[in-house]
Amino acid sequence: MQEQNTLYIVVPCYKEQEVLPETAKRLRAKLVQLTAEGKISDKSRVMFVNDGSSDETWPIIRSLHEQDPDFFSGVNLSRNRGHQNALLAGLLTAVRFADMIISMDADLQDDVNAVDAMVDAYHEGYEVVYGVRSKRETDTFFKRLTAEGFYKVMKALGVDIVFNHADYRLMSRRAVEGLAQFGEVNLFLRGIVPQIGFPSTTVTYERAERFAGESKYPLKKMLAFATDGITSFSVKPIRLVFTAGVVVFAVSIVMLLYALFSKLAGNTTAGWTSLMGSIWLLGGIQLLGLGIVGEYIGKIYNETKRRPRFIIESVLNKE
Ligand code: UDP
Ligand code: MG
Repeated sequence: MQEQNTLYIVVPCYKEQEVLPETAKRLRAKLVQLTAEGKISDKSRVMFVNDGSSDETWPIIRSLHEQDPDFFSGVNLSRNRGHQNALLAGLLTAVRFADMIISMDADLQDDVNAVDAMVDAYHEGYEVVYGVRSKRETDTFFKRLTAEGFYKVMKALGVDIVFNHADYRLMSRRAVEGLAQFGEVNLFLRGIVPQIGFPSTTVTYERAERFAGESKYPLKKMLAFATDGITSFSVKPIRLVFTAGVVVFAVSIVMLLYALFSKLAGNTTAGWTSLMGSIWLLGGIQLLGLGIVGEYIGKIYNETKRRPRFIIESVLNKE
């Protein structure tokens, strides 16, 4: 087993100079403890990814590595590319050295002690272990409402995501190699990871308050993130237009009959019948047309993402 249990903890960092020293200290202690328990190899590392920070984040990471290369490594992005991209950069770099990779935020909101349970689950054979928040007491009312609402909307739209799971998770090397096959640019990892497959489980933890510094997800980024999540995984909004088209078209037939009937009954002003008829009919036809065009765009959209059509877990064959 010794060769099979090198752990890398990937931490994307954007302007995290206030928390980094503390995060590094706690993660280092965690690696020391797990190594002593024989659960991970002594090649295990914490890999900080600097997402184009303008503060002292990268100099701090560099000095951590220089002073303690057996525990800390770093990846420096050329500029700020956002949380999801920074995380992917870290995962795809770490996969070259690691057997299992845990991704975690820099702000210590993710309970470091959940790492133990994740590593245990890995040893039991799980290849993806999702960290799930048991409570959100430390989040503001607004953050909780928007975040939980978001998970519900995603579920309603048929997107396969894990409730109350952010990007705190363990992935085996195979799972990350599977992830690497998803070539899409609009990255929404929480939606992609369940698509990879392999045995998975969850570990619950209590989400703490940000240790220091401020949230790097202002409302604007949160909305962009949610839109990305929905439009990258669901064509249901397009279907909605199509359904509306069908409904309006059906109503237009009823309205047409009603208008004709009123005319025949003789209680209409001149021009009313044709006006009523064309408004409903045209509206219905336009919505239907949009829905049909949308359906094709949805197909094109899915094709351009070039997602892997399958990921093989194992092959049995006698040569
Ligand atoms: N982050 C990043 N690039 C960005 C924004 C955020 O790498 O452009 C990192 C940040 O340093 C942190 C993680 O993503 O490690 C989550 O950000 P944050 O804690 O601010 O989000 P919140 O917990 O408030 O949703
Ligand atoms: Mg945070």
